[in-house]
Amino acid sequence: MSRRPNNILRRLFNRRRRRPTSAADGTGAIYIIRERVLANGCWVLKIGMTKNLGRRMKEHRRNCPNLNRRLWRFKGVGFRRRVEALFHLAVESICVDRPRTSCPFCHRRHLEIFVLTPHQILNGLLPLFARLS
Ligand SMILES: [Zn+2]
Repeated sequence: MSRRPNNILRRLFNRRRRRPTSAADGTGAIYIIRERVLANGCWVLKIGMTKNLGRRMKEHRRNCPNLNRRLWRFKGVGFRRRVEALFHLAVESICVDRPRTSCPFCHRRHLEIFVLTPHQILNGLLPLFARLS
């Protein structure tokens, strides 16, 4: 499934935001991995959350031989599952595509992948990421 229309994303975002927070949803890190840069200048990003960033990055390295990754992370985010879900929906609403194609490095289909132009990164993604604080 690729990028969904904004009216649907807005409805999903509002519904998720209204859901009460859960005590099981603890503190963790939200991260953005730049997987690669496309010929047209767009960036392919993976956005995720984890309780243990070191372990998660080791998993990524083991599962996929892409050595060109760059990582940005925001540690100490409370209610990490909720924040990740809302962040995914917000990024999807500003992105070019949410592809489900297979990875050129490991030929598997990665999840939570978004394609953004440099303009969308600067004016959409970075302000969203900064608001995680
Ligand atoms: Zn891969």
